[in-house]
Amino acid sequence: MEDEMANLNLADEEEEAFQEEVTEVKEDFRFCLVGSYLTDSVVHFSSLRNTVADLWHPIGGIAITNLSEKYYFFKFFYDIELKRVLKGMSWFFNNHLLMMHKLQTGEDPLTLPLNHAEFWVQIHDLPQGLMSKTMAPRFGSFLGDFLVYDTRVPTLGMKWYMRLKVHIDVRLPLKWKKNVMLGDRMFYAKFQYEKLNLFCFICGKLGHGESFYPMRERVDMSHIIFGWDIMLKALTRRGLMGVSQWLCESDGTRSQSLDKKGTVFCAILGICI
Ligand SMILES: [Zn+2]
Repeated sequence: MEDEMANLNLADEEEEAFQEEVTEVKEDFRFCLVGSYLTDSVVHFSSLRNTVADLWHPIGGIAITNLSEKYYFFKFFYDIELKRVLKGMSWFFNNHLLMMHKLQTGEDPLTLPLNHAEFWVQIHDLPQGLMSKTMAPRFGSFLGDFLVYDTRVPTLGMKWYMRLKVHIDVRLPLKWKKNVMLGDRMFYAKFQYEKLNLFCFICGKLGHGESFYPMRERVDMSHIIFGWDIMLKALTRRGLMGVSQWLCESDGTRSQSLDKKGTVFCAILGICI
């Protein structure tokens, strides 16, 4: 019995906890992004790592690590490279949209809800009076979080459409129209998303096609109503490249077109400016 008591005392002594003061650990996330791909498919990390590094090829390189099954950590070494990647959104890997967030000091990369992505959205079928700077944030807020109104859309005398950058919640169906009253007349603005890749014609959500629709196994596909169509996908601006040097805008200025990277191609100088 005495021996047992002696052992207990010894055990108690051994389990005495280490005492440490609470200190806040702050990582340096200055040039870091955390990202996740919008897919239920398996993403092969080694393939992703090489593809993304080749695609972005940032000055100074990039370190990419796998934080969890679907979360990736991207560390740049120059701020300008990080900004270039953020500006170039949307990014895809094997058709899967990459949702990214610029990490702030004190944030835990593993607990961030990555449910948003930036898209350029064109707004068509509006009368001239509704394509204005004041309408831009209203449409932007309807679509998601309004970020930027692009005032550089080629006018060709008349504006064809408005162009906004918005932060979209990828869990929601894509919005494709909005009714607007101008005086006593009703108009329907139609939305077209640039760089739109994989989306479902049945539920209107990003990240899967209608062939992966869960109801497919139980319901006759001929009875399913397709509420969304390919009209949601904006045409690229490549058709606007290579504008003849003799073409002018209605105010007499030389025509310019936007190249696929979004920089302005000057038809006079023949260079991107
Ligand atoms: Zn669907």
